[in-house]
Amino acid sequence: MSSNMVAILYLISALLFIFALRGLSHPESSRMGNIFGIIGMIIAVFTTLMFKSVLSYYEIGAAILIGGAIGSFIALRIEMTALPQLVAAFHSLVGLAAVFVAAAAFYDPVAFSIGKVGSIKTASLVEMSIGTFIGAITFSGSVLAFGKLQGTISGKPIVFKFQHLINALIFLLIIFLIILFVINQSPTIFWTIVIVSILLGFLVVIPIGGADMPVVVSMLNSYSGWAACGIGFTLSNNLLIITGALVGASGAILSYIMSKGMNRSIINVVLGGFGGEQDTSVNKDNSDKIVKQGNAEDAAYIMKNADSVIIVPGYGMAVAQAQHALREMGDILKKEGIEVRYAIHPVAGRMPGHMNVLLAEANVPYEEVLELDEINHDFPMTEVSFVIGANDVTNPAAKTDESSPIFGMPILDVEKSQSVLFVKRSMATGYSGVDNELFYRDNTTMLFGDAKKMCEDIVKSLSA
Ligand code: NDP
Repeated sequence: MSSNMVAILYLISALLFIFALRGLSHPESSRMGNIFGIIGMIIAVFTTLMFKSVLSYYEIGAAILIGGAIGSFIALRIEMTALPQLVAAFHSLVGLAAVFVAAAAFYDPVAFSIGKVGSIKTASLVEMSIGTFIGAITFSGSVLAFGKLQGTISGKPIVFKFQHLINALIFLLIIFLIILFVINQSPTIFWTIVIVSILLGFLVVIPIGGADMPVVVSMLNSYSGWAACGIGFTLSNNLLIITGALVGASGAILSYIMSKGMNRSIINVVLGGFGGEQDTSVNKDNSDKIVKQGNAEDAAYIMKNADSVIIVPGYGMAVAQAQHALREMGDILKKEGIEVRYAIHPVAGRMPGHMNVLLAEANVPYEEVLELDEINHDFPMTEVSFVIGANDVTNPAAKTDESSPIFGMPILDVEKSQSVLFVKRSMATGYSGVDNELFYRDNTTMLFGDAKKMCEDIVKSLSA
């Protein structure tokens, strides 16, 4: 295939990736966006395989088969609730790939047309080492994020003295090592950069706890894009550079939106958990407080007699897969003439857009699903807030308790509605580990049980 043809096909792929991102920005167009992305990727892969420089189709074919089989196996088995950690695990592989490609180019520069062993072009050495640095940080940061999201490592922030100073010194050390590597092209320095960058990746994610994890997940997504962009430079592959930059930039924009949603400074998150140092063990002893409990019939009665209900879904709805039963409940209420809307907090669930995806899957009309900014001022005029499997995103400690790890995060003001129904299984805390004093308020009724089962029982009561 001529180089002109390659350039044209790569341009078409790049445009399709941009359309894909555009499509993914709204639930209604996201299916089309996905299709654009798939077509773009098919064109990109086939164009790349048509390169004259391809040495062995057998090896590439075997790699695609093995990788594809493992990917399909995982994708078929994975629970929807475990997606965030799966995404983190996949990001770690992108980081690792960037390191391996850089190492391959370093050990066999002739194959990459970047010079000979010991006399590689300076520009290539700079690209290679920056790609390695970002790749290694992405790798270890994502492995740690995976552990925290999976629960194998404590989600609490791990902090120690001089943490930020140590991180800053390690960063300076890496810059120094990169300069040294560009000068003397030593394999020992190359691998030292890898090891020190891996260490920095761990140290950057370790102090970030509980409620700040969403920003980290999208930040690592962005890093993985820049790592891919770095590989693109090493391989002199324009499409990989464009695609990596698209992922890197969109991940960075998403991180900005998420940190705005959390009221955190993006700089603090990038630099490694400034402000994540609060103590989550400050939960007060609430054993003497009274909790009002109700059941499905009570909830059905309260909602049937209301004019308006705002449903606030959270992680527990995803765990219970309650979205279909929930929509059924909403439909019955609407038939009774009750206004039903859904309020989505930017970090509800365990990944960006988690709740929107589940509600869309259950065919909840998009116009009933509103973001925090659009609906928060309506809670005082609302009779019932139906909080289903959400906790942190409603916790008023974010507004009142300066020592709380979620202090400063905007929350959905459910407590301002006339009555609040909380569906959850126990008095347990949410992801951030902070008690929610809303459970003890006079206008709160706790509906203990699995979210799906509770919705099904409420539907039965409403229909009776
Ligand atoms: P939370 O984690 O605060 O609360 C979820 C609640 O759901 C728990 O308190 C739990 O209580 C309940 N629950 C669990 N399983 C069930 C079930 N089967 N039926 C009914 N209830 C259930 O979730 P939120 O969505 O309110 O907040 C998200 C949190 O996750 C925030 O702290 C956010 O920062 C963090 N996070 C978000 C990410 C994102 O990108 N969106 C990524 C990483 C973290 P109980 O055990 O008593 O049932």
